[in-house]
Amino acid sequence: MNKKELLQIKEQLEKQKKEINHQLLELAEKDPRGQNNYEARFPQFGQAEDENIDEVEDFSNLLPVKIGLEESLAEIDEALKKTEKGNYGICENCGKEIPLKRLGVASSARLCLNCEKKLKE
Ligand SMILES: [Zn+2]
Repeated sequence: MNKKELLQIKEQLEKQKKEINHQLLELAEKDPRGQNNYEARFPQFGQAEDENIDEVEDFSNLLPVKIGLEESLAEIDEALKKTEKGNYGICENCGKEIPLKRLGVASSARLCLNCEKKLKE
């Protein structure tokens, strides 16, 4: 991977990070203690019992979404750190370069396709 390619990937990662941050802020409050921690906002529909049931249901639907977004955010941060350290795009398992084609679709990939398949089995 050359410098220009790395720069492009970095831009892509930053963009993804912004988008995810944005999505997270719509359903959660930023936790001041941690950079990538968000507190899911508990919805307030009203005081009636059926409204309370709806609130709990809404909250339990929202929680896994929030957790998924936080995980993606952490992966992107990890990838961004690697672009700084210079080990971005290197498979964490076998140490080979991850093909640019794969990074284009999964820019925070930590493993090459071979290793990912192997480790999933
Ligand atoms: Zn590998």
